[in-house]
Amino acid sequence: MAVGISKIVSALEPSATLAMAAKARELKAAGKTVYDFSVGEPDFTTPAHICEAAQKAMAAGHTHYTASGGIQELRVAIAKQYQATHGLEYSPQQVVVSNGAKHSLHNAFTVLCDPGDEVIIPAPYWVSYAELVKLTGAKPVIVPTEEKNDFKLTPAQLRAAITPKTKILLLCSPSNPTGSMYSPDDLGALADVVLEKNLVVMSDEIYERLIYGDNKFASFAAVRPGLAERTITINGVSKAYAMTGWRIGWTLAPLNVSKAMDSLQSQETSNPCSVSQYAALAALEGPQQCVSDMLAQFAKRREYVRERIAALPDVTCPNMGGAFYAFFNIQKHLGRKYGGVQVDNSAQWCLELLAQQGVATVMGSAFGAEGYARLSFATDMKTLEKGFAGIEAFLKS
Ligand code: PMP
Ligand code: GLU
Repeated sequence: MAVGISKIVSALEPSATLAMAAKARELKAAGKTVYDFSVGEPDFTTPAHICEAAQKAMAAGHTHYTASGGIQELRVAIAKQYQATHGLEYSPQQVVVSNGAKHSLHNAFTVLCDPGDEVIIPAPYWVSYAELVKLTGAKPVIVPTEEKNDFKLTPAQLRAAITPKTKILLLCSPSNPTGSMYSPDDLGALADVVLEKNLVVMSDEIYERLIYGDNKFASFAAVRPGLAERTITINGVSKAYAMTGWRIGWTLAPLNVSKAMDSLQSQETSNPCSVSQYAALAALEGPQQCVSDMLAQFAKRREYVRERIAALPDVTCPNMGGAFYAFFNIQKHLGRKYGGVQVDNSAQWCLELLAQQGVATVMGSAFGAEGYARLSFATDMKTLEKGFAGIEAFLKS
């Protein structure tokens, strides 16, 4: 007898980024050389002072359940940081710490969405958004954006997508998968529509500290008065502090939303990992040089990636203002054979690139944008050099 899986989970797509990373790992385990640009996680190890804080926390006996929404010191530190960097006033109770920003997003959608509600998600989008929305019975409304506009949602596109059922607008800036960034003015123009149409905004700001050149980051809740009452901000330590494995993310939200998430989490996971919370506290309160040092490395890689992509024939790529992804257009390279294999879409292109050259990227279709591929440059220069040689050889084949 096959055990039945619920309808809602049967309809779920597994994470394509994690699936490509698993494929790359499998090939490596089988002895193949693989240049892995699939998953977006810093290749750096977590800074030593953060690991030491975790060891101290264990030695001090912080190995028990904590308050479900996180230890008070960490909630205070997060609220303080938002005050200092964005002038936003949150009480510690408005901060809920979870097991990674992905979990924060899941909590937020779960407490806000009823079946039938609509959530506007600009495409290209990070793979998990639409699936997390579907888990609640709500409907993701995917709104395609244009490469010529750096994949940014325009106020007109937002207006056109709003229906009486629209509840939430999801924004991610800097963006995964495109690296594109909304300027403070871009966000202000969207905020005017949000306020007029009475929407809630989920603002995923996990790449806030990874910004290049003169680009200016603004936290969505801070761009107009009255937005903090309708914004759920998502952030965490995974990307800025190379702490993906520690699983700490958080939300800042109106008090009733935070209380609902806290109560949901108290039934779901009790609390985020105690030791990781102390590590995250050390990340926020300790020296920040580690963030600038990693950013300097990412900036060098970004320059290199931009040059190498610009040199690829018939490939375009919008400017990466932040994060560590390049999202490049491969439309002119589809509809032909590579090493005797017909390749018609981005999934086939990425799978053949992996099979023939050992280069792992993620297909644009997983991000709601067919005809593109995503490359994570959170990896060392040597791997980038070899990977681009593989991409060039593949395009010529
Ligand atoms: N949001 C975006 C845009 C991301 O790229 C990621 C990375 N997986 C997350 C959220 C989740 O991060 P975390 O590791 O904290 O769950
Ligand atoms: N955010 C990363 C990515 O997009 C991590 C993998 C995931 O959580 O999907 O590759």
